[in-house]
Amino acid sequence: MPSRFSAETAASLPQKEIARLAEMRAVHSAFLYLHNQEMEFRRWQRELTEIPAPPFGEAARSHWLRERFTALGLEQVHQDELGNVFGYLQPPSSAPLLGMSAHLDTVFPLGTRLETREEGNRLFGPGISDNAAGIVAILALASALKRSELRLSSNVVFIGNVGEEGEGDLRGMRHLFSSSPWKETLQSLLVIDGAGTDTYVTQALGSRRFEITFRGPGGHSWSDFGIPNPILLLSRALARFSEGEVPQSPRTTFNVGVIHGGTSVNSIPESATARVDLRSASREELQRLEARLHECVNEAWSEVALPYRAGDAKVRFAIETIGDRPAAESAGDSRMVKVIRAVDAHLGIKSIPRLASTDANVPLALGREATTIGSGGDGGGAHTLREWFDCTNRDLGLKRILLTVLTLTGVNE
Ligand SMILES: [Zn+2]
Repeated sequence: MPSRFSAETAASLPQKEIARLAEMRAVHSAFLYLHNQEMEFRRWQRELTEIPAPPFGEAARSHWLRERFTALGLEQVHQDELGNVFGYLQPPSSAPLLGMSAHLDTVFPLGTRLETREEGNRLFGPGISDNAAGIVAILALASALKRSELRLSSNVVFIGNVGEEGEGDLRGMRHLFSSSPWKETLQSLLVIDGAGTDTYVTQALGSRRFEITFRGPGGHSWSDFGIPNPILLLSRALARFSEGEVPQSPRTTFNVGVIHGGTSVNSIPESATARVDLRSASREELQRLEARLHECVNEAWSEVALPYRAGDAKVRFAIETIGDRPAAESAGDSRMVKVIRAVDAHLGIKSIPRLASTDANVPLALGREATTIGSGGDGGGAHTLREWFDCTNRDLGLKRILLTVLTLTGVNE
């Protein structure tokens, strides 16, 4: 989809435009500001990490972010009914917008000890990198742009969104691009997720997740021997499914991650359930895999002796969708990705394209311009209690984001 921003010349010659921007005095002062504010960024990062934000429980963080946005002087700070938080750089109009987002939620359930600590340049705490670092990057950029004299040709909206992780299933982003006023004006989205400067996402890894359940009458292992056994039916379906071939390219995978059922060794179980995860960058391959899963489950069921299938349907199965992240294949040629590559060349960053499942899946699947990059610094132990973020070179990541944003929006002399 062609961009509707004004800086078309910048799009054709990003390298030149970036060099011009990097020479500007106001850009220099913004760089300096991003470097000098490091201690403040650390305070924000630790404060945020210590606020719980399990999937579907982000309210306290939304509140915190709204207060920060207001304190920075962003325009029309508000949140929607899900808890997504917004703040504009300039007073909003109906013109196309560049969005910059970071997810607020973590994988950690309520009750997790969210203590943080600092050792030299290293911060420790669950979620400190994924995605407190991303939220801090949004705040840093909002703050730097708000203070600078740079006049951007198009407006930017800063977004802290809910529901990226696990069972959140991208609900925050999905809402933004389906039932909110943003779905028309938000032409491009730059997602900041985690640490680092070495990648950018060009392909949205799609996933479909299912819970498969077989149910039967159940009974005694000896006296009811012969009645259909849900665990065996489920096993047969899964074994058959796992024997199928999946393509190497586009890479397509499946996993059975959870299985449970039955109550005791001498009972024929009444039910058996499995959770299955299917992934691919190709929508068609995902659909094919999903169809095969249905086929295998149906086949296992249809082999049950007729008396146990007919009438009051003593043996039943159900396939419930428990996750759905859209896939999108080729975002590699978008203007946004070209700009990031040019910015990386300018800053001497060696980066590589990445296939990933992030908030950018939603706009990418709609044909919008979007990618996901890191917030700078370095990180590790994501989704564990040992998670860390190294602040060394955070400002390189922030410079990278700033130059990308300025090139995308265009800057008036
Ligand atoms: Zn994340």
